Amino acid sequence: MSVGQPSQISLYDTVETPVCTSCGRIIHPGDRATSFVCPNCGKIVIWRCARCRSLGVKYKCPVCGFEGP
Ligand SMILES: [Zn+2]
Ligand SMILES: [Zn+2]
Repeated sequence: MSVGQPSQISLYDTVETPVCTSCGRIIHPGDRATSFVCPNCGKIVIWRCARCRSLGVKYKCPVCGFEGP
């Protein structure tokens, strides 16, 4: 790793807008949402918005189909 290279990395290219896995709403910065890696396949980050958390809406992993509370 060399130090001093000009950095052309754009943060906006690497950060995807998170979407609630349960209801599909866009999760905005500052929302009390939670994210975690799928406990079954571990291949994807599952997002849940504050509303779905409080309502206990189930989520379904789009990769492996795992459903959880
Ligand atoms: Zn939601
Ligand atoms: Zn999964």
